[in-house]
Amino acid sequence: MALYDPLTGLPTRELFCDRLRQSMARADRRKGALAVILAAPTAEIEQGALAEAGKRLAGAVRRTDTVARFAGTTFAVIQTDLDSFDAATFLAQKLLDEIGVDAHVGIALYPDDADTPKQLTGRAEGALDTARKTGSTFAFHDSKLTAEAEDNVRLARDLRNALAANEMRLHYQPKLELSSGRIVGAEALMRWQHPKHGMLMPDTFIQIAEECELMVPLGRWALEQACRDAASWTQKADEPVRVAVNVAPVQFEEANFAETLEAALAGATLPADRLEIEITESSLMRDPEAVAGVLVRLGQLGVGITVDDFGTGYSALIYLRRFPVDALKIDRVFVAPLPDSPNDAAIVRAIIGLSRSLNLKVIAEGVVNDAQREFLRAEGCDEIQGFHIGEAVPAEEFAAMIAGG
Ligand code: C2E
Ligand code: CA
Ligand code: CA
Repeated sequence: MALYDPLTGLPTRELFCDRLRQSMARADRRKGALAVILAAPTAEIEQGALAEAGKRLAGAVRRTDTVARFAGTTFAVIQTDLDSFDAATFLAQKLLDEIGVDAHVGIALYPDDADTPKQLTGRAEGALDTARKTGSTFAFHDSKLTAEAEDNVRLARDLRNALAANEMRLHYQPKLELSSGRIVGAEALMRWQHPKHGMLMPDTFIQIAEECELMVPLGRWALEQACRDAASWTQKADEPVRVAVNVAPVQFEEANFAETLEAALAGATLPADRLEIEITESSLMRDPEAVAGVLVRLGQLGVGITVDDFGTGYSALIYLRRFPVDALKIDRVFVAPLPDSPNDAAIVRAIIGLSRSLNLKVIAEGVVNDAQREFLRAEGCDEIQGFHIGEAVPAEEFAAMIAGG
C-alpha cells in the first residue's frame, strides 16, 4: 500500500485516512474540533499543474495539518485545532487562492457532522457535490454554515480594504482612579464604520481579522492612532491621561513588535509612560520565551503592561514572576455578580490581594453600578472601568470630557 503519491509527493488516501483517525482521537481527548476540506478543480487539469497545485496547497496549511491527494484531481486537507467554523472558511478560501485554477471546495466538521472517519469524509464529499451542483466555490455539509460563511468571506474582503478606505475608528472608554475619583486613562477600542452595515463592534470582525492575517496591520494602525490621539489630549498639568491599547497574540509574535511600538510613540511624540498595552493571559502563554523578551524591552521603554481578562485564561501564575507585568485587569465575569455573590467577591478579593503583594496595579472592568464601585473601592482596587463611568466614545468626545473635568 503506497503511503505517498509519486506525482505530488503528498500522502495518499490511505495515509490520509490513518492521519484522520489519529486527529479525531486527539480532538476527542482535547474536546477539540477539526475540519475535513476537499478541494477539486472544476475542469480537467494537466499532471504538471496538479503537481504544482499540490505543492502550493501543502504550503498553505499549518505544520500540524495534513494535505493529501485524495482521488484523481481531488485534494483533501485535515485542519486540526479548529476554534470555530470560520477558521475552516478562511482556510478553504486560502486553498481556493493557492490551487491556481477554478475549483470547488466541500467542508465537513468533526464532531458536529459525523462520528467516524468514513462518515466524515463522506460528508465532505457530499458537500463538494453540493458546491459542484450549485456552482458555488464552497459548501459546508451543514448548509446553514455555508450561508454564514459567505457573509464572512464578504466581510473579510471588505475588511482588507477598510484601512485604506479610512473606515477604522478608535473609541475611548474612561478609566477612573478610585482614590481620587479622576479619569486617569482610557482604553482604545476598535470600531469599523462599514459603508453598508454601519458601525460594527469588534466581535463582528476581530476574529475574521485574525484568521485572515489582517490583525497585524489593524493592530499597528490602532497603536499609531491611539498614540496620536493621546498626544493631542490637553491634560491637566498634574497628571497626564494614559492610553491603553489591546494587542492581539499574533501582533506579539511579529519579530519587530517592539520596533513597531517605538515607532508609534516616536511618530506621535508620545512619552512611553503614557502608553499601556493590554494582553491576555493566553497570549502570554503561547510562546513564553519570545514574549518575555518583548515585554522586557517594552518595560525598559517605560510602556505599561496590563494582563487583560485576568482569571479567565490558563492562570499559570508563574508568568507573573517571569514577565515584567505592571497591572492586572479583573475580568467582568467576576465583577458583574458583585457584591452579592460570595464566590465572586472572594475571587475579586484574592486578585486584589495578589496584586497588592506583587506590587501590581489592579483594575476592574465592567463596573455598571454604585454597589460594585463601592465594593471595589473598599477592597482597595486602584481603577475601574465600565458603563457606570462611561462607555467608549469617539476621540474628540473623550478629549472634551477630560479637558472639562
Ligand atoms: P476587552 O479588551 O475586554 O474590552 C472591553 C469590552 O467590554 C469592550 O467591548 C467594552 O465596550 C465592553 N464594556 C465596557 N464596559 C462595559 C460594561 O460595563 N458592561 C459590559 N457588558 N461591557 C462593557 P468592545 O469594544 O465590543 O470590545 C470587545 C473586545 O474586542 C475587547 O474586549 C478586545 O478583546 C477586542 N478589541 C477591541 N479593540 C481592539 C483592538 O484594537 N485590538 C485588539 N487586538 N482587540 C480589540
Ligand atoms: Ca482590554
Ligand atoms: Ca477585558
